[in-house]
Amino acid sequence: MINKKWKIILETIDFAMQPIVDITSGRTIAHESLLREYKKAGFASIDDFFDTAYEEQVLFTIDIELRKKALIKFKELYKKDNSLSLFFNIDNRVIKMANYQSGFTDNILKEQNLPETCLTFEISEKHEFKSFIEAKTIFSLYKEQGFKIALDDFGTGYSGLKMLYYTSPDYIKIDRFFITDILNDNKKKIYVANIVNIAHQSNIKVLAEGVETIDELNVCREIGCNLVQGYYVQRPSQNIKELKSSYNKILENKIVSSKCDNSFHLDNVYYKSNSYNNLIDKYIIASSTNLKGEITSVSEAFCKISKYEKIELIGKPHSILRDLSVDKSIFKNLWKTILSGKIWKGELSNKAKDGSIYWVDATISPNYDKNNILLGYTSIRQDITARKELEKYLITDHLTNAFNRKHFDDILIKESIRIQQNGAYMTLAILDIDSFKLFNDTYGHNKGDKALQQVSKYIMKVLKKGEYFFRIGGEEFAILIMNYDKKDSQTKLMKILNGIEALKIEHKKNKNVSDYLTVSCGAICVRGKNIHENTNLFINADMLLYKSKNNGKNQLTISNKVYTSSLNIRLDNRK
Ligand code: GH3
Ligand code: MG
Ligand code: MG
Repeated sequence: MINKKWKIILETIDFAMQPIVDITSGRTIAHESLLREYKKAGFASIDDFFDTAYEEQVLFTIDIELRKKALIKFKELYKKDNSLSLFFNIDNRVIKMANYQSGFTDNILKEQNLPETCLTFEISEKHEFKSFIEAKTIFSLYKEQGFKIALDDFGTGYSGLKMLYYTSPDYIKIDRFFITDILNDNKKKIYVANIVNIAHQSNIKVLAEGVETIDELNVCREIGCNLVQGYYVQRPSQNIKELKSSYNKILENKIVSSKCDNSFHLDNVYYKSNSYNNLIDKYIIASSTNLKGEITSVSEAFCKISKYEKIELIGKPHSILRDLSVDKSIFKNLWKTILSGKIWKGELSNKAKDGSIYWVDATISPNYDKNNILLGYTSIRQDITARKELEKYLITDHLTNAFNRKHFDDILIKESIRIQQNGAYMTLAILDIDSFKLFNDTYGHNKGDKALQQVSKYIMKVLKKGEYFFRIGGEEFAILIMNYDKKDSQTKLMKILNGIEALKIEHKKNKNVSDYLTVSCGAICVRGKNIHENTNLFINADMLLYKSKNNGKNQLTISNKVYTSSLNIRLDNRK
């Protein structure tokens, strides 16, 4: 029974209604009943009202009366639109009251001729439940009776996510805190977008509470909230005549403010990140290895370029792709860099499954876990094979496959600087086929070309990794080798000269020299300290070649004595 004091209070208080609107259609789908005139009834706040009722042990009885009062007012709205529902705030403490029993609400609805489906209980996170099991039980009880549940003040109360997990409400009402100024607050956008994502995946509708501006409304819509409530749409009103069945103004400004990045719509974020990952997988040549250098993951692009299947690579050592022609010092430097925790960048050639070589511009970085423990390495690469092929094309002589004259000039400078720094030996040999004009005249130009190819092929076979062979003129070649002193250079070059003659390329008119094709050679063997600003090694070697020609051809003239540029004049006037 209700005492006189509470009877007066109940007569004094009233409910205001505030529309809950579908954010995409602008249609009012429900009204929330909000307690009013509580001050007139002697309470400082709504909380004060409920706290007092709780303390006086009348909360359950009062709550039933409040439901009745709210439903009677709501019925006026329902009469005009029977798809509407009422969102009624319920104090969790109701069920703790000694006289609590279910079934009362059903009776009121029957009295008012309203269906259960028109009532949604808003349960606030503000009051702590004794246990989540308790909350779950209460929620299921309401649901079983056909009522809907909205989790109110979401994000600001007790254990929001845990409550959400246990209770599976029909709606989540995102607290105004997260909505205020959401346009300019990326953190809020991320939070709300993620709540929307969880909710939608759990078949829960999301209501944005306290929307006061068009910008807030637009962001909420872009993020994917389903419903909206707030001053921008409609202030709560005790006069139900002020409430509309739809609010077209929320649709008027559908153009998203420039500041609102619609990528925050979680569906978009998910879609984008998914398609982003697909793009990366497809186009970025990426791989990861563990500390032992065993492959732990590879992208689709990696498989494509290496011509391996994913399954053939996972668990295998990364060295499966190693191109054995790559200088070991490159790998030494690479490991030194990444083992010291730094990023290594560089160009590498790799060997594909079919043995073909591809070039990559690689960035290899160490992977750490959150405790800074090294887990392995990740590498991303760009395919630079085409560029490398073009580069190779530009420095290659296409008849013989030797390096061309341009590359000769570049390498001679580069290596000269290098030996000046490290003091090593460098031998430059210039080779010229003997009486090649006569060879062409005798056997024809085609045979001449073939002879050039045979000689080149032989020399390239004899030379080791890091030794250079160039075609610097018609039938003139250069060899550049490091770390041979004069004697060793002589041995090596004589072996080449003899080897060429031993190819037995018939050259009947190689008069007084041989019945076969031969070459003459001039070579200069220097150490870094002998090279000066005006030292021209090419001229030195060429001059020595001239000596070989003059002395009867098919021979080597080698010197370690460098002549200065004053000798150039003699050489230039040679012919
Ligand atoms: P020497 O023993 O003094 O070097 O006499 P040589 O005839 O070899 O020298 P010379 O410089 O007089 O002639 C070079 C010849 O090399 C002229 C040219 O017919 C031939 N030659 C140059 N380039 C090519 C080429 O690409 N193919 C062919 N088949 N012959 C070439
Ligand atoms: Mg010649
Ligand atoms: Mg010549």
